[in-house]
Amino acid sequence: MPESVSVVCHACRIGLPLCDEPVARAAWWRFLDEHAHHPVEMLWEHSATWEVIDIDYIQVDSDIEGDPSFAEYAGDEWRGRPLALLPRPVAGAVAGITVRAQDVMDAGRWQAGPADAAVAERLLRTMDFAPPSDAVVDDAAVAARSAVARAASERLRRAAAEPLGESFGALLSDLLVALPPVADLPLDEPHTGSVRLAPPRLWDVERALRLIQHLLVGVSLRHAPAS
Ligand SMILES: [Zn+2]
Repeated sequence: MPESVSVVCHACRIGLPLCDEPVARAAWWRFLDEHAHHPVEMLWEHSATWEVIDIDYIQVDSDIEGDPSFAEYAGDEWRGRPLALLPRPVAGAVAGITVRAQDVMDAGRWQAGPADAAVAERLLRTMDFAPPSDAVVDDAAVAARSAVARAASERLRRAAAEPLGESFGALLSDLLVALPPVADLPLDEPHTGSVRLAPPRLWDVERALRLIQHLLVGVSLRHAPAS
């Protein structure tokens, strides 16, 4: 069986599997058109770069909610496109930190403090960020989502002030530098287009928090007491 190949744009954080059938080829032409001048890379199944592809990447033809099918990507039916294909600088910065942290954990160079697992688990109980890019919003939805993101950032900030293990404390500090100050999270931004999607900065921060959520699961599992 031939190795599968995907083309990935690291600026827009999207990947498209290459597939020899008409709709997938149409999606490929659209990808070329949209990302020709972006940092695009071809990835084989065993490419080392797969390690930087995280849950924030949109994957065409995946079964994740909000990700487009080949047909949606090739055509104009993907409602989330105007938001999903904007740069996500906060998520990108956080992704770099989480990849490095994961490497340190995998290499066993992680110094756990007694409070780390409890703090990670407590943070996780209040984090759940996965609104797809195509979710239509109104004023109330934007206000509610902004409030949730602000509260999560604030809890991270408070947790970083607790007595934590050296590694976890440094990790939280790095993440807080990458996240915008709580007061700067937008309640609203001007929107264009026929349907109203989430403000781009809010969505970027939500995706970043989702990456942090994913990392915290790893931290809490790592410190789970042996049974
Ligand atoms: Zn791109």
